[in-house]
Amino acid sequence: MGIRLSQIAKTYGRPGTPRALEPIDLEIASGELVGLLGPSGSGKTTLLRIIAGLEQADRDPAGTIHFGSRDVTEVHVRDRRIGFVFQHYALFKHMTVFDNVAFGLTVQPRGQRPSSGEIRARVHQLLEMVQLERFAQRYPAELSGGQQQRVSLARALALRPEVLLLDEPFGALDAKVRQDLRRWLRHLHDELNFTSVFVTHDQEEALELSDRVVVMSDGRIEQIDAPAALYRAPANRFVFEFLGDVNRLEGEVRDGALTCGEARLAVDLPEGPQELLLRPHELSLEAAPSAAAHLPMTVTAVVPVGAEVRVELAADWLAEPWLATIGHGDFERLDVRRGQRLYALPQRWHRFAAEGRPATQPSLA
Ligand code: ADP
Ligand code: MG
Repeated sequence: MGIRLSQIAKTYGRPGTPRALEPIDLEIASGELVGLLGPSGSGKTTLLRIIAGLEQADRDPAGTIHFGSRDVTEVHVRDRRIGFVFQHYALFKHMTVFDNVAFGLTVQPRGQRPSSGEIRARVHQLLEMVQLERFAQRYPAELSGGQQQRVSLARALALRPEVLLLDEPFGALDAKVRQDLRRWLRHLHDELNFTSVFVTHDQEEALELSDRVVVMSDGRIEQIDAPAALYRAPANRFVFEFLGDVNRLEGEVRDGALTCGEARLAVDLPEGPQELLLRPHELSLEAAPSAAAHLPMTVTAVVPVGAEVRVELAADWLAEPWLATIGHGDFERLDVRRGQRLYALPQRWHRFAAEGRPATQPSLA
């Protein structure tokens, strides 16, 4: 079931106080898995709670929420057929895993409630799906954090919601468990074919899991796009900086080159002060400068763990250190060590005009 928000805004407290959410339009397709990504305080939870019906949107502007063709703006949370998962598992401590998952079904009104046999079958099926069948008779305290969160997922799915809402569902878990649970969620989402909206402040999580990501800041939507498109074509500087590590090069452009202290980079830009931004993988390291780039740097740290080698670099002409990610081949060829002098060769860079304006196309240096 698709979700359509039109002019949804939220002010906490008196009218006239700053809005937690500026009027937002958002359309989520049926079966989509959408991530709400943004720093703390950007309005993600507020937006999710409004979709859920746990929070009332402002009356001015008079926004609307549709689930499919149904206007649910004034529909109570209980009647929206939504599943929830929150960061803190909020399982009932005094109930077994089985009873936790069954709870939503057992408290349904008599007419709608499945028979106890059906409830049992459905709960077992759900526990099987999250691979916790063996734990049906345990209590939450007897499970790990990741297992408890899987119980929360099963519980949220017991009423067969068409919309699943998750607020930082993996936030309290350690990195490895978080990875596993992401795969879980993706798998369940694809298999059961509901529409999911999940909140996260973790870029990697949003990019890995979402069909589309809604990037938020200060109660506004900065960009909505598929992960690859977001990364390739950020709408503005905020999105670019929020989605990954950034190296900055500030200098003065004259005669086709940007200079900054002893550093120089050939560029085709208007004369005057300029700031270029580079991702760590958008530069290579060499033992000598090239004709186009003379960016001497000193290696301050090397982390050779993982698929790539992370090299931290410093220079007198830089206000902040840079980070380069290079292949293990280059790492060995250059024999990269702390204290070594190397030259950065940008393959591409990005430039953004004043706040909020679109990015210029990245160029090849
Ligand atoms: P996020 O989930 O992105 O961290 P929130 O939606 O929780 O952001 O918060 C957005 C803004 O609204 C913040 O400035 C926050 O302080 C404010 N806010 C959130 N909930 C309440 C509330 N119940 N009462 C007053 N202000 C709130
Ligand atoms: Mg939040």
